[in-house]
Amino acid sequence: MKVSRYNYHQQFGEEVDSLVGDLRRMLLEGRYILSEEVNAFEQSFADFLGVKHVRGTNTGTDAIAIALMALGIGRSDGVITQANTFNATVTAIRMAGATPVLVDADDGTWLMDVSQVAAAVTSRTKVLIPVHLYGKPTPMLTLLEIARQRGIHLVEDAAQAHGARIHGRVAGSFGVAGCFSFHPSKNLAAAGDAGAVATNEDFLANRVDMIRSLGQRTQNEHIVPGVNSKLDALQARILSWKLPHLHECNSRRRIVAGWYRERLLELPLSFQAEGPDEEHVYHLFQIRTDGRDALLSYLIKSGVDAVVRYPIPIHLQPAFADYGWKKGQFPVAERLAGELLCLPIRPDLSISDVDYVTDCIRSFFCNVRRRAATA
Ligand SMILES: *Cc1c(COP(=O)(O)O)cnc(C)c1O
Repeated sequence: MKVSRYNYHQQFGEEVDSLVGDLRRMLLEGRYILSEEVNAFEQSFADFLGVKHVRGTNTGTDAIAIALMALGIGRSDGVITQANTFNATVTAIRMAGATPVLVDADDGTWLMDVSQVAAAVTSRTKVLIPVHLYGKPTPMLTLLEIARQRGIHLVEDAAQAHGARIHGRVAGSFGVAGCFSFHPSKNLAAAGDAGAVATNEDFLANRVDMIRSLGQRTQNEHIVPGVNSKLDALQARILSWKLPHLHECNSRRRIVAGWYRERLLELPLSFQAEGPDEEHVYHLFQIRTDGRDALLSYLIKSGVDAVVRYPIPIHLQPAFADYGWKKGQFPVAERLAGELLCLPIRPDLSISDVDYVTDCIRSFFCNVRRRAATA
């Protein structure tokens, strides 16, 4: 038996030929750049989120960098995020020319440790970027209060959290900007790279418009420094095709996560803490165990496509060595990097897939215990 992490065929449903017909027309008619298909997706994703504007970009990394540039963030400005995020959050801060400042992860939620943020704020801090990691929305009330009191912008990295909700609102709609990725691995997946900035602010949407198009207001009139990073029209058409199914796909993911939690309850492992007033969208289903590496190889041998996200925390990545972070500086992020394991999760995963994966995990722990008892 094999249990894989992705099933792209299923994401397109039975009617895929009609989508392919649309893409064929676009190819032949030359509708590639900021065409009506891009506008249509931006509008429907804005409606999905309940925000005023969405602007598509080439990647989720660019979405974050462009949001920061649009806020006027640059050299000598500090941007706070967490030590246990995906590389892209911090790379985007660097792309905007700002300095990343890290706080540790929370040991229970595996999100930003919100209680460390106030102490990390200095006079140079301009932006706070919580990451709604693995699809779990970050508790926002304390962060909103710090941002308000200290005059800091809140920009959300919602690249793993399309449609997640907390405090009755959708992730990505709390801050001045919410940034999304539509990388093929994400809950809403393009057939290549794609990203977007969501915002309720007219000025920010206008700035993002210009910055993503080399800073131009009208053709050949370049009024601000920019980059070239626009959502591709073919990707936009594909995203519009999938978007109507996103809610349903997210609820299926929650059901699968429930099966996992139920079946793994009595084993020596733990789960991402669940908050009261939230809807997790389970981009990833993570378990935590100190036997992680042995369990990973056991699962791989058994045909289960488990994977480690992310084995090296930000502060220990060679790419960021110039920031001078030290081993031991963010101990929770370091422990999580050594103990978290992603089990396959997809909207179409069946209960027998989940039974197989959880049976494998149970027999792994039985063997470990038996070996320990006879040793
Ligand atoms: C995927 C991801 C991004 C952006 O990724 P792209 O591949 O550039 O679209 C940013 N932050 C997080 C947490 C992500 O998972």
